[in-house]
This record gives sequence, C-alpha cells and structure tokens, in this order.
Amino acid sequence: MAKKLVIIGGGAGGASVAAEAKRRDPSLSILMIEEGKYVSTAA
Ligand SMILES: Cc1cc2nc3c(=O)[nH]c(=O)nc-3n(C[C@H](O)[C@H](O)[C@H](O)COP(=O)(O)OP(=O)(O)OC[C@H]3O[C@@H](n4cnc5c(N)ncnc54)[C@H](O)[C@@H]3O)c2cc1C
Repeated sequence: MAKKLVIIGGGAGGASVAAEAKRRDPSLSILMIEEGKYVSTAA
C-alpha cells in the first residue's frame, strides 16, 4: 500500500514539500489542504 502524505497549506512551503516528496518517492499519495481560494504554482 502506498504511503500517504497530508500537507496543510498550499503556499510556497506546502507546494515545495509536495514536489520534493514526490521526487524522492514517486509512489507517494499526497493530499494538500488549502483553506484559501488559490494554491501556489511555483515549487
Ligand atoms: C506583502 C508580501 C510580499 C511578498 N513578496 C514576495 C516576493 O516578491 N517574492 C518572494 O519570493 N517572496 C515574497 N514574499 C514572501 C513569500 O510570500 C513567503 O516567503 C512565502 O509565501 C511563504 O510561504 P509559506 O508556504 O511558508 O507560507 P504561505 O504562503 O503563508 O502559505 C501558507 C498557506 O497555508 C494556508 N493555511 C494556513 N492555515 C491553514 C489551515 N488550517 N488549513 C488549510 N490551509 C491553511 C494559507 O491559506 C496559505 O495559503 C512576500 C510576502 C509578503 C507578506
């Protein structure tokens, strides 16, 4: 079963963590939760 990563916050920090975690483990399942209307597009 794939590992799961939950990231709270879709700003620069959250998006960077998501990108780096996926690079290290492409099989990772990532859920990013953002309370605002927009997430970062730069990671
Ligand atoms: C006025 C201003 C101008 C700036 N200009 C620049 C610039 O030109 N260039 C530059 O490189 N940097 C700039 N910065 C700095 C840059 O914005 C920050 O360094 C960067 O956004 C920090 O990213 P972060 O992911 O740590 O935090 P944030 O960008 O604050 O992201 C955190 C996210 O988490 C979300 N969140 C918080 N609590 C919860 C919750 N409980 N549940 C779900 N979501 C939640 C928030 O909605 C937010 O989207 C500027 C900052 C400010 C204030």
